[in-house]
Amino acid sequence: MRKACVALLYLALIGCGGGDKVAPADGEQSQQRFEWKLVTSWPKNFPGLGLAPEHFAEAVERMSNGRLKIKVYGAGQLVPALEVFDAVSQGTAEVGHSGAYYWKGKIPASPFFGAVPFGLNAQEMNAWLHYGGGLELWRELYEPFNLVPFAGGNTGVQMAGWFNREINSIADIKGLKMRIPGLGGEVFTRAGGISVNLPGGELYTSMQTGVIDATEWVGPYNDLAFGFYQVAKYYYYPGWHEPGPALELIVNKQALEALPDDLQAIVETAARAINQDMLDEYTARNNAALVELVEKHGVQVRKLPDDVLAEFQRLSADVIAELAAEDPLTKRIADSMRAFAAQSSAYHGISEEAYYNARGK
Ligand code: CA
Repeated sequence: MRKACVALLYLALIGCGGGDKVAPADGEQSQQRFEWKLVTSWPKNFPGLGLAPEHFAEAVERMSNGRLKIKVYGAGQLVPALEVFDAVSQGTAEVGHSGAYYWKGKIPASPFFGAVPFGLNAQEMNAWLHYGGGLELWRELYEPFNLVPFAGGNTGVQMAGWFNREINSIADIKGLKMRIPGLGGEVFTRAGGISVNLPGGELYTSMQTGVIDATEWVGPYNDLAFGFYQVAKYYYYPGWHEPGPALELIVNKQALEALPDDLQAIVETAARAINQDMLDEYTARNNAALVELVEKHGVQVRKLPDDVLAEFQRLSADVIAELAAEDPLTKRIADSMRAFAAQSSAYHGISEEAYYNARGK
């Protein structure tokens, strides 16, 4: 009772003594305006990947009633595609949208937050990040770089890629020159292939001129837009190398902490929204694009032979074990993801998988 009286007295005092300036500190802070720069690794407005940061900026501006404005720069407009991480780390831009596996040279564990061959699919990746300890590990990994990562989208299981010859056994991989980056590329090389990394814009011409024999890109939606059906006959699945590739939204730590609590919540909520939205869009558009590729363009859709997938899986386990041996944090991340995958397989076998089998076509 006495405490309540003191509190009332205090409120009365500040109410009377404040003159015109009646807004408390929080109220003043809520009027403060911020302008951020967002750098990306994608061409401006690139379908799917490049639209996510645009949606993020729009959502933040609307939810904050214009108090946090974010200007989005495509790859090369403010910094080159692969300098997003450094630019946000150093504060050249406050926020970035990219893929964690691009930073493998700097951070060996980064592919675990992008794509690991035979790793988690999109549903599992989101579950591991948000309810399985993954995001905490990701934040620990990026902490020394002054960055706070958020999940920033997912394409869902990709396709194994476009091939200009049939793959009937592991012998057909030998000497095959394929654009396949990241850990998948390492596995492909160990299987006897020649992996190369080329930017998306060069893939069509490289296939057309025979510089490469095969290429992976994303999935039907993005691949149809690039016209790969004109330069390769066979479209193989499944995307063993990128089963649930996550994109990242990275925020400069000081910039995030300088925001009042409500704007921080808006950033977090908008990130969560674009993360789910990208998967929704890819899921819908991939379905429609695959129908068009097959029915309109006569693309031959083929499954990679089981023995080829088994060999890729065996080699992937080696690559991941070597990665996990790099340092204790990488090992903790690898162990956490592996344990989550094992649990998920047990339940998904009797839920998602059993249901798909029961539903049939
Ligand atoms: Ca890909």
